Amino acid sequence: MKVHNFSAGPAVLPQEVLREIQENLVNYKGKGLSVLEMSHRSPDYMAIIEGARARLLKIMGLGDDYTAMFLQGGASTQFLTIPLNFCDDKKVANYIDTGVWSSKAIKEVKILNKKVHIAATSADKDFTYIPKEWKLSENPAYLHITTNNTIRGTEWKIDPDVPAGVPLIADMSSNFLSRPLDFSKYDMIYGGAQKNIGSAGATFVVIKKSMLEKCNKGLSTMMDYNTHASKDSMFNTPPTFAIYVIGEVLKWIENNGGLEGLQKINEEKAAYIYDVIDSSDFYHGTVVQEDRSFMNIPFRLPSEELEKKFIEEAKAKNMLNLKGHRSVGGCRASTYNSLPMESAKALAEFMKEFEKNNS
Ligand SMILES: *Cc1c(COP(=O)(O)O)cnc(C)c1O
Repeated sequence: MKVHNFSAGPAVLPQEVLREIQENLVNYKGKGLSVLEMSHRSPDYMAIIEGARARLLKIMGLGDDYTAMFLQGGASTQFLTIPLNFCDDKKVANYIDTGVWSSKAIKEVKILNKKVHIAATSADKDFTYIPKEWKLSENPAYLHITTNNTIRGTEWKIDPDVPAGVPLIADMSSNFLSRPLDFSKYDMIYGGAQKNIGSAGATFVVIKKSMLEKCNKGLSTMMDYNTHASKDSMFNTPPTFAIYVIGEVLKWIENNGGLEGLQKINEEKAAYIYDVIDSSDFYHGTVVQEDRSFMNIPFRLPSEELEKKFIEEAKAKNMLNLKGHRSVGGCRASTYNSLPMESAKALAEFMKEFEKNNS
């Protein structure tokens, strides 16, 4: 039995990818050993990581002026390494604060005692929208945004414009590769792989090579982006199996129409659920319509008792992980790339039925 998995992460993976991995788990493509057992420096493994890197840049439409790294420590470690690498005594880290994850990123800058400026925030309305205007500080080191707010369910619909010379850095953990973006507007894109492009354990960092020249000198070896970039993520043992999973998901993305194809599917999936919310007085969405996420859909019911009942009855119908993040409550359906269309349909149908039976 397979469940409908609405988890915010680690999240659902494509069935095809899981089967491919299963078939090759013990004896990878007839090589006589598992990817789990391979030396990261063996030719077979090198082909896996280099294939994943090349495929990633190709899907993003990026050229030689960018490189992609697969690191460890999650997006949360990047919150620290970004200011460590790119801030100095004079430059100011600029952030747009759109909720929990941006706030955590900002906190790390403060711990390092670096200068930080909040260029815009939606805290005034409980992070229910994406700021449309921002004001940078003097001498900005970079502008950092969180393109999809996993917990609140807001998503940037534009790639923000920044003045020439100001690097744009984005945490794309929860909407990476969900639709075409002008990736070349960003100087660095990062995130945990476990939401949209793979399993837990690997962190992707796609960075413009010119950014690497801006890294501070004298950093601890493992904290320095140049360490990992110059060794193609092989300075130390990379998360080999998680990178293999990413490579297989990237092949699946190519086989599903690339980013244009995924955008169509993702919008259709989200529409099933948003349509129920919009045509009902029973359910209500928690963020402004124009900023709604295609990846994480939070919604409330008339009471907390009904929310509890909804989550329990959904579970009995094999629809799992519909509880909202513990910091905001309510319900949340995550509809990432790999969530099958039938899962979105099943949830929409269940929502209608539950409303009929409980209002
Ligand atoms: C999940 C998430 C993170 C944290 O990722 P880890 O890999 O667990 O460190 C950071 N940012 C966003 C937007 C997320 O959704």
